[in-house]
Amino acid sequence: MMQGPVDLCVIGAGAAGLAAGIFAAEQNPRLTIELLDGAKTIGAKILVSGGGRCNVTHDRVTPDDFFGMRHLVRNVLAAFPVEDTVRWFASLGVELKREATGKLFPVTDKSRTVLDALIQRCRQLGITLQADTRITAIDCCDRLQGSTENVPAGFLIRHQHGKVLARRVVLATGGRSLPRTGSDGSGYEFARRLGHRVTPTVPALVALILEDTCFHTSLSGLSHEVELQTLVQGRSVDRRTGSLLWTHFGISGPVVMDASRVWTHSRERNEAAELFGNFLPGRTADQAREWFLAQTARHPRRSLLNMFAELVPERLGEALCRQAGSDPQQGSAQVPRTTRDRLLTDLTRFRFPLVRDRGWNFAEVTAGGIPLEEVNFRTMESKLVPGLYIVGEVLDCDGRIGGFNFQWAWATGRVAGRAAATSLVGKPRGEHGEVTAPRQERT
Ligand SMILES: Cc1cc2nc3c(=O)[nH]c(=O)nc-3n(C[C@H](O)[C@H](O)[C@H](O)COP(=O)(O)OP(=O)(O)OC[C@H]3O[C@@H](n4cnc5c(N)ncnc54)[C@H](O)[C@@H]3O)c2cc1C
Repeated sequence: MMQGPVDLCVIGAGAAGLAAGIFAAEQNPRLTIELLDGAKTIGAKILVSGGGRCNVTHDRVTPDDFFGMRHLVRNVLAAFPVEDTVRWFASLGVELKREATGKLFPVTDKSRTVLDALIQRCRQLGITLQADTRITAIDCCDRLQGSTENVPAGFLIRHQHGKVLARRVVLATGGRSLPRTGSDGSGYEFARRLGHRVTPTVPALVALILEDTCFHTSLSGLSHEVELQTLVQGRSVDRRTGSLLWTHFGISGPVVMDASRVWTHSRERNEAAELFGNFLPGRTADQAREWFLAQTARHPRRSLLNMFAELVPERLGEALCRQAGSDPQQGSAQVPRTTRDRLLTDLTRFRFPLVRDRGWNFAEVTAGGIPLEEVNFRTMESKLVPGLYIVGEVLDCDGRIGGFNFQWAWATGRVAGRAAATSLVGKPRGEHGEVTAPRQERT
């Protein structure tokens, strides 16, 4: 069944798609707007986000919080600063609170509050929200007859139940993370078929699996500060400090999640990547050695375990002693020099024996995607396909943990929604003729 033409069809009703639809409708209430989503229910990813609390944004958002072309990211973020995001959510009835880390959550501590508010606003604005409608293809339609504009008349969107004609399309299909929520990467294929490039996609904000021989299972549940350094082909490319969580499979926690995309990207490019941990953040190996020698001189019979307990959690100290082949109860003065050196190296430069990342089912975001330079940052309109707007995670831009990825979704959604609506001003339905289907459709 052929439907439409509608003024704007948003493909994907996740965070970016919902924002695009709402801002387009607010800009031009006369437009017919349809949001189509392949998932059975709308907004599954919003619901699971932030541990069910939805970390909506962060109180300080800068381009440095993202991987992506800095100057383009800066411009997009500037178009919708955090204060505006906070005000926008307040206007939807969602009050946000700031936590000590700078993360902003709804005061209810429930993602449901955020999702319900977005859906309710869509309804108020007369936007059609259609779940269980998986898009299978997007084609540009013929140019309007007699038009001199270099703008295609519109798009033919095929989905599992039929077809829709639309004057403008917002591609908001997300990445590949958590595919059970509906984001399975199909948007990349649509973009490719429309002429866009897609840079390699890898899981980001993802936990990492360690070799079975490592001691991580004995530390499962323990978290502490660590400084992580990633070396690619022997060169230091990333260094960050934060909380690491040991788990039954390996390592997780904010600092590991943030560092993971450097490792996954390097692996994808077949480059040798190594991850090192300094369990004494801010201290060098030499400083640790001086400390050890001074302590040993003062308390020669004090056990290694008690000594290390001053610096690192006891369970970690014990695991590192055993890993270095020494008895944790041994007096520090009795430890052979080679063992001591190994221990001190492991304390300040522990090489994590990484096997792989935990994969798309656990990754919070996708690194890679449609290059930012292929969209106009002032409008999010494709530079290759006039009338097509691209927003959210499907773009090659990913933020660190802390609400930055949602901020990217809201900001790109707003820029695109307003621009698409503005581009239709003065072109209400029918005035410039109907959208016509591609030739093979006209039988
Ligand atoms: C477990 C988890 C927790 C997270 N927590 C946070 C957090 O607290 N704060 C934060 O900032 N970020 C968080 N993120 C990241 C954040 O959720 C995403 O970056 C953000 O949702 C991306 O929004 P999006 O609209 O671009 O894509 P998505 O939210 O992935 O939405 C894309 C939508 O498109 C639909 N779709 C895809 N293909 C098709 C198709 N062919 N036809 C029709 N529909 C299609 C999908 O069903 C989906 O609904 C989290 C992610 C995960 C996985």
